[in-house]
Amino acid sequence: MKFIGDFHTHTLASTHAYSTITENAKWASEHGIKFLATTDHGTDMEDSPHLWHFYNLKVIPDELFGVRIIKGIEANIRDENGTLDIYDPFVYKCVQWVNASMHYPLMQPSDKAAHTKAYLAVLQNPEVDVICHSESEQYDYDFDAVARECANQGKLIELNVTRLYRGGITAQRYAMILEACEKYGTSIVVNSDAHFYTAIGDFDVAKELIEKTGFPEKLVFNADEDRVLTYLKNKHPDKF
Ligand SMILES: [Zn+2]
Ligand SMILES: [Zn+2]
Repeated sequence: MKFIGDFHTHTLASTHAYSTITENAKWASEHGIKFLATTDHGTDMEDSPHLWHFYNLKVIPDELFGVRIIKGIEANIRDENGTLDIYDPFVYKCVQWVNASMHYPLMQPSDKAAHTKAYLAVLQNPEVDVICHSESEQYDYDFDAVARECANQGKLIELNVTRLYRGGITAQRYAMILEACEKYGTSIVVNSDAHFYTAIGDFDVAKELIEKTGFPEKLVFNADEDRVLTYLKNKHPDKF
């Protein structure tokens, strides 16, 4: 299995990340990545870019070093109603990719029912593409219910490589998520969540887990170029 896209990466526009879009794209091109989503943090995070960062993403060329650049955002889930920190609907016109994540303290940890409710609500947002790094124990949720709704809505659940490298019970939690995804035919996307360019496309640890669990290749979104293009064309027929 090889991966041709990375749909969750950061630039120094979020100050706890340290690379430019140019460095990210160059590294991606040298490591077999053909689609690179640049997804800096939503504006409620303390060191996120200003709203204007998202308004002006259009100045970045659609292609850099032969890599298709997908302008995106990693929005913060704020509450159990699935509120995202995208308050100005114009932002949705400026981005082609929306990752949705729970980050402390922007989402107050509550109980399993509340986190599940939040994810289910987020999945009703037509602009959202991916539920990201949801393996976190402090935001435990009903894997089955969310995987099933994800499949219904044609959205993706992320296998986050940065989190996998952290170790602990992360791999175990992801194995459970993969099991739920397989049960409902939910596609996953393997992403680096790179905060420095060398992390982009470094997916070995995810590949290992996918192989170990026997998760089907056909449900790995970014393992196939046609799958990615079909999805993007379907969502943005004017841009892809
Ligand atoms: Zn995140
Ligand atoms: Zn991130």
